[in-house]
Amino acid sequence: MKTLSEGTRAALRSRTRLVHAGREPFEQHGFVNTPIYRGSTVLFETTDALHGRSESRFTYGTKGTPTTEALERAWTEIAGAAGTVLTPSGLAAVTVAFLAVTRAGSHILVTDAAYQPIRKFCDDVLRRMGVETTYYDPGLSPDGVAALLRPETAMVFVEAPGSQSLDMQDVPGIVAMAHARDVPVVMDNTWATSLLFPAHRHGVDIVIEAGTKYLSGHSDLLLGLTSANARYWPALRDTFDAFAMCAGPEDVFLGLRGLRSMELRLREAERQGLAMARWLQARPEVARVLHPALPEFPGHAIWQRDFAGSSGLFSVILMPAADAAVAAMLDGLELFGLGYSWGGFESLVVPFDCRSYRTASAWAPGGPALRFSIGLENVEDLQDDLDRGFARLRGEAA
Ligand SMILES: *Cc1c(COP(=O)(O)O)cnc(C)c1O
Repeated sequence: MKTLSEGTRAALRSRTRLVHAGREPFEQHGFVNTPIYRGSTVLFETTDALHGRSESRFTYGTKGTPTTEALERAWTEIAGAAGTVLTPSGLAAVTVAFLAVTRAGSHILVTDAAYQPIRKFCDDVLRRMGVETTYYDPGLSPDGVAALLRPETAMVFVEAPGSQSLDMQDVPGIVAMAHARDVPVVMDNTWATSLLFPAHRHGVDIVIEAGTKYLSGHSDLLLGLTSANARYWPALRDTFDAFAMCAGPEDVFLGLRGLRSMELRLREAERQGLAMARWLQARPEVARVLHPALPEFPGHAIWQRDFAGSSGLFSVILMPAADAAVAAMLDGLELFGLGYSWGGFESLVVPFDCRSYRTASAWAPGGPALRFSIGLENVEDLQDDLDRGFARLRGEAA
């Protein structure tokens, strides 16, 4: 086996790329995978090298190791970016991106459907530093978002589909609008990943991915990936270096391991998720299913135009029911876990209510809302578990 030529590498299809990206076996004594390099100190052979007067690939643990470099390179190639930094969580991946593009006096536009913990960073930390956040309705058209821009607006932040409610946004439209005014667009692309929505190719400047979700796929690590195009890469890398917000070596290693099977797991999550979504749609206890791949979903046309598939995360709105009935349904589930995060091999469900935090958009779905992350179990078993749950919801002994 030879090192890939540039021409071969450039022409690879996605699954082959996932297998080969970031791997250099002959730099690791022929072993297939880059091992876990643990370390703070890196030794130099000469004082010239120590003082940076001759090239050194590695200089200190916080600046990178062969393990972190392997995943950074792989992700940069997969995302079609100029560079990637790895952070200890998906939330840290968001904060480093926001810090890279803002300064005191900046104004930023953040979708009201953003991953909720981002709001604390904006409302507490950025506000203290003199950065003002305006949350905007994810249902706004690009022109609607344009109307909120100010001369000092430093970023438009998008997430599509949005957290919990799965609102779709016209990302290419927002990019065209923002770029016409020289404002960068930053996107949380965790739901689709670069495999189903190549955000940089759609013009997004900085792309965030919680590797905790589908890159990991096993609910056993925390990791964030922030990639930037050539224009914003120097600012992102500088900000990241200033914080030394580096990911742990074991988590990066597990991220590399997850990368190799990521497309297979994502495609299975899509298949399983759709099967469950359609089954739920037919249930009398369910008012609506919020899943971008369903033709009935309001953002379906945008999803179909821009996305190459869907993941296994979607929400349902139940017919009106008492809190206690919903709790009885969920508390008795045997296969579905009740917990945060998603994208793992195991199915999860969480109740949610966007009214508790959204400030720029109404949320009145007409019934209790549940978010499902569908894992790799047999869907018939998941349906049996929910069947018994619906009996409890209806107040029937199950
Ligand atoms: C989970 C999640 C994050 C944060 O990832 P962590 O690794 O849990 O910090 C960010 N954005 C979205 C959309 C998420 O679902």
